[in-house]
Amino acid sequence: MSIDGYIDDASPERLRLSDAADFDRVDQVRADSDAILIGAQTLRRDNPRLLVDSADRRTTRIAAGKPEFPLKVTVTASGDLDPGLRFWHHGGGKLVYTTDAGAARLADSLSGLADVVPLGAELDFGVLLDDLGRRGIARLMVEGGTRIHTAFLAADLADELQLAVTPLLVGDPEAPRFLDAATYPGAPHRRMHLADVTQVGDVAVLRYLPRGNRPGAEHADQDMVFLRRAIELAWLCPPSETAFSVGAVIVADGVEIATGYSRETDAKVHAEESALDKLDADDPRLARATIYSTLEPCSQRGTATRLPCTDRILRAGIPRVVLAWREPATFVTNCVGVEKLRQHGVEVRELTELAAEAMSMNRHLKLT
Ligand SMILES: [Zn+2]
Repeated sequence: MSIDGYIDDASPERLRLSDAADFDRVDQVRADSDAILIGAQTLRRDNPRLLVDSADRRTTRIAAGKPEFPLKVTVTASGDLDPGLRFWHHGGGKLVYTTDAGAARLADSLSGLADVVPLGAELDFGVLLDDLGRRGIARLMVEGGTRIHTAFLAADLADELQLAVTPLLVGDPEAPRFLDAATYPGAPHRRMHLADVTQVGDVAVLRYLPRGNRPGAEHADQDMVFLRRAIELAWLCPPSETAFSVGAVIVADGVEIATGYSRETDAKVHAEESALDKLDADDPRLARATIYSTLEPCSQRGTATRLPCTDRILRAGIPRVVLAWREPATFVTNCVGVEKLRQHGVEVRELTELAAEAMSMNRHLKLT
């Protein structure tokens, strides 16, 4: 996309946002995929062949026992697809997912050119993916356009998002955007995991794991998953000028058993305290639990009637603590939560790679 989020301009001629190096990168991603999906609108608009261009990459595919080209897939609700499009007349198997009405319309025109698969009265991308899975497609590359990208992300069906940002501005409100407005899961607070950033010529390629925040997501270390969940909770804190926003999750046997966040139940309650208050003191799961907190548990409190969170954790018998950042000296001169927990035999893991993310809702506070 352009810097201002467009994937084309509004002219009939396709705007080339990628340079040769980025096209080559895309060719590699295609070669690594079992199938490539493109929406009917993009098919009509760009008329692509959707091939792997590199002969070497095709040879490598064949040597690995794969077809020379990935399966080519398109999606149309209406069934409005011209049999003269280049897509049908170049390499690779072709598959069209459509509605019952669309299938009736396409049965004759695409006969001998593609397999037409009706999905019912309406398109359902989850059903589509299940069908591809049954056909042995493990890795599907979705190349657009706007409607398809929006549908996949809104339905939370993408495992990985590669976003190539080219240093151009388009500025035309009639031009198609990377994504439309939609109800995205967890928006606007759920953060994707930024897996890596690569420079390809003057194009920045950002690779995200959209569901990196969700337990069970591929690639994600369990501690990262649950600490990210704590970060999500920290965004729910009522704002304060005099205290940090913190999120906490208690996990036992791989399952979340309680959550809390700062000021959740009253103006003074801490995240870990709020989570612990939701469990019985003698809950047997506490003895094998991990508590995830975006910030180091406190070791002293201004509210004399309440125990510091470090003492609450020790008293609960929780053997393991995972946190993102140590308490800075903004409100407390010397927090010794980590030291005290370790002295009492609690395992403490600090995931400092999530510190910036865990602090992001506290940017209005002066950190010292
Ligand atoms: Zn505390």
